[in-house]
Amino acid sequence: MVERCLWDEGVGAPGGAAAPLPGRTDVAIVGGGYTGLSAARTLARHGVAVAVLERHRIGWGASGRNGGFVLPGFQPDPDHLTRRYGVARARALFAASLEAIGCLERLIADESIDCGYMRVGSVTLAARPGHLRHLERSRVTLGTRFGHRTELVGRADLREEIDSPCYHGGLLDPAAGSLHPGRYCAGLAAAAVRAGAVIVEGIEVLGTSSAGGRTTLATSGGPLTASGVLVATNGYTGPAFPALRRRVVPIGSSIVATRRLEPAVARGLLPRGRVMSDTWHRLHYFRRSDDGRILFGGRASFTPTTIERSAAILTRAMREVFPSLADEPVEYAWTGAVCFGRDRMPHAGRAEGVHYAVGYAGHGVAFSTWLGARMGDALAGRAPVPELTGEPLRAIPLYAGTPWFLPAVGGYYRIKDWLS
Ligand SMILES: Cc1cc2nc3c(=O)[nH]c(=O)nc-3n(C[C@H](O)[C@H](O)[C@H](O)COP(=O)(O)OP(=O)(O)OC[C@H]3O[C@@H](n4cnc5c(N)ncnc54)[C@H](O)[C@@H]3O)c2cc1C
Repeated sequence: MVERCLWDEGVGAPGGAAAPLPGRTDVAIVGGGYTGLSAARTLARHGVAVAVLERHRIGWGASGRNGGFVLPGFQPDPDHLTRRYGVARARALFAASLEAIGCLERLIADESIDCGYMRVGSVTLAARPGHLRHLERSRVTLGTRFGHRTELVGRADLREEIDSPCYHGGLLDPAAGSLHPGRYCAGLAAAAVRAGAVIVEGIEVLGTSSAGGRTTLATSGGPLTASGVLVATNGYTGPAFPALRRRVVPIGSSIVATRRLEPAVARGLLPRGRVMSDTWHRLHYFRRSDDGRILFGGRASFTPTTIERSAAILTRAMREVFPSLADEPVEYAWTGAVCFGRDRMPHAGRAEGVHYAVGYAGHGVAFSTWLGARMGDALAGRAPVPELTGEPLRAIPLYAGTPWFLPAVGGYYRIKDWLS
């Protein structure tokens, strides 16, 4: 099987993407995903000269490969947030995640981005009967601590949401949405270019050095000097930024997509068109696409693997969840890197002379758009860098960029799932 991403189909290059590398700019942004593009749009709107440098093409990273779920909250659940950060900060963090969805919705409307965005709602599905208790605790915390209304769906009512024998109930969050990640990314890039940003594709940043208040970026296309730099490389952070690389772990996540189904068949499987994920630690997530396919994603493997193997693992899991898809061929399969810090929370700050914004842990479609915009404000001198957890992005012991410990983490999750 050849790796092929559904979201690449019919998505044109953003206008102006072929710009040449300038010799100097006010702010240089490394990475052409949602974080970098949103920051670039904001900076350009503040009248700051800004250039986005992308090693491959716009949206080549997670921003062009994700599931398109627009999610409130973070990877750690609401109870973990309150225990770890206290009620006040947990509430502020959750409010920021809702503000991020509002920011994304305004941006899509203001820039007329045709990406099929809809507030469809999400359901987190209990994979074991006991997991429903955990979802009920989340519902209570979300309501009482954060003032956010969600709804428990019992097993009897679940048929209204999904046609699958695998689940025991779920938690419905009406604030979640879905979009076409590729069209959203291209629209965001076009909006940044319209605002005055320069986007340069096919240029790799190799390192930075600072002197006299300016930073020089060594790139594969020659040097570029800037007053400010934002590193927005997330799960694709490489040796050019060694300190950041020691602090973030890329974990593979893959998606398969069936062929187009008869509209009634696709609607029968997910009647309300919501985005779905389950409570397994090894996590499955799925949705319908605009063109009538079922998309099914997950952490197919915690060890480096091939697209054939991850597609086979996910296809098997998809057919367990939806037995009626047993004979439906899979037409697309692709993989991307999800970016985790030690605490599984996003972080933004400044280190070694550059700003950074990374670590969305699979909850980045809306939050990276928002955090990119806030970093744009910060680099334009209009606002401070957002505080988020109030804790630093910590280095991971004995780790320099090769996640040797992931097979053990995968084994641990398998045992936890088995015991749960
Ligand atoms: C399979 C998958 C499914 C996901 N599903 C969801 C979802 O449904 N909902 C959700 O909220 N989140 C999801 N996520 C996470 C979400 O996609 C990310 O959080 C978000 O896209 C991060 O955007 P970004 O701009 O920070 O990083 P990216 O989009 O990864 O962009 C980083 C870019 O930096 C470039 N780069 C790296 N190093 C250099 C260099 N030295 N020089 C130049 N360029 C460089 C890379 O080429 C890359 O394009 C998913 C992620 C994956 C992989």
